[in-house]
Amino acid sequence: ETTLTLPPVPSGAFADAPAEGLAGLETRDVSAWFGSHKVLERVSLGMAAGEVTALIGPSGCGKSTYLRILNRMHEMVRGAALAGEVLLDGDDVYRPGRRPAEVRRRIGMVFQRPNPFPAMSIQDNVASGLKLAGIKVGKEEREHLVESSLRRAGLWDEVATRLHTPGGSLSGGQQQRLCIARSLAVSPDILLMDEPCSALDPTSTRRVEETIAELRGRLTIVIVTHNMQQAQRVSQSCAFFLATHDTPGRIVEAGPTEQLFGSPRDQRTADYVNGRF
Ligand code: ADP
Ligand code: MG
Repeated sequence: ETTLTLPPVPSGAFADAPAEGLAGLETRDVSAWFGSHKVLERVSLGMAAGEVTALIGPSGCGKSTYLRILNRMHEMVRGAALAGEVLLDGDDVYRPGRRPAEVRRRIGMVFQRPNPFPAMSIQDNVASGLKLAGIKVGKEEREHLVESSLRRAGLWDEVATRLHTPGGSLSGGQQQRLCIARSLAVSPDILLMDEPCSALDPTSTRRVEETIAELRGRLTIVIVTHNMQQAQRVSQSCAFFLATHDTPGRIVEAGPTEQLFGSPRDQRTADYVNGRF
């Protein structure tokens, strides 16, 4: 994990644009189990439209599980159970009859390890997001979406002349931005990012942070990170999760990032953000 202190990421062009027409996300009393093992306890959190919300906390406190609950990937895990509500733009993503695929189209996910299709061309990787979501577009529209998605992911300038080369030929950091472009191609309302920079070097990390800054205000982002500097650089709101050996993960404290880091209300938050556990 990098502890470099980098200057703040410049605000994106749309950073201060009002979040009109954007969807926020909210959970109410979300609890989760794997078999009889309860891993999350009554997690209630609002993730404001157009903002970046950072989820922080020690390993094993349920951050990844929480992200998977948000876009209905949790139910794909054998033995997984869930209670509570997840509201996308006020509408429960677990409403009976709602299709998981539709939820996952609107709430995209980027993982710790970049996972493009390595043998597939860069442009087909981006367009594969459309295919997986069952969205059919013509050739021209498809080319336009590939370019605009790569631009929004901050990768266009690096790949414009090599769109036919395999995704696997890119550097790790470029592959991660390719995965971001693939997610963006289906115009999600929400982008979930689970430690998207943990496998990247500091320069690539910086590129991804710049991409996040550019996306801010255009969609709603929830990012899990163990990098406290990163949480402060990219997020406006922050939630600190904690589990103990006999209590499931819960939110100890949530609020504006500045407050969580500058004047935490809970001693455990202060200890964690200052690297004392
Ligand atoms: P974090 O992302 O904060 O490190 P996780 O959400 O990965 O935490 O894990 C939370 C708890 O759930 C841990 O105790 C972990 O062992 C458990 N867990 C995670 N995934 C599974 C799974 N597929 N089956 C059983 N237990 C799991
Ligand atoms: Mg995790």
